Amino acid sequence: MSKRKAFMDKLKTIFCAVFRHSNIEEQFWGEHYCGRCRAKLGDSLAGVYRNSQVVGIHCDCEGCRERYAKMGWMDKFLAAKPEWLGEPPGYAERKRKEIDLDLERLPPGVEQL
Ligand SMILES: [Zn+2]
Ligand SMILES: [Zn+2]
Repeated sequence: MSKRKAFMDKLKTIFCAVFRHSNIEEQFWGEHYCGRCRAKLGDSLAGVYRNSQVVGIHCDCEGCRERYAKMGWMDKFLAAKPEWLGEPPGYAERKRKEIDLDLERLPPGVEQL
């Protein structure tokens, strides 16, 4: 890990500890991670996690786009940007289809996932 990256990671962790976690989140199989410091924030599969302010990095729904537009610097500072930012609506769905197509194009003999 480069010195700069290590320093930035530390800064992110400190920022989250002093202020709060970002509402920009990475969601993965029902688990929620802070889009800034990467800490695990909760588990919505277990039903113990609720946050109506969340913007999902990969989500790309209307709600996330609206909430992101209203977000302040506290959420955006040092946090990962949603991957759909600057893309027209439907980005996540198109990307999923592209991945599906890629899988179909695998040469014969290559193991499917
Ligand atoms: Zn955090
Ligand atoms: Zn969403």
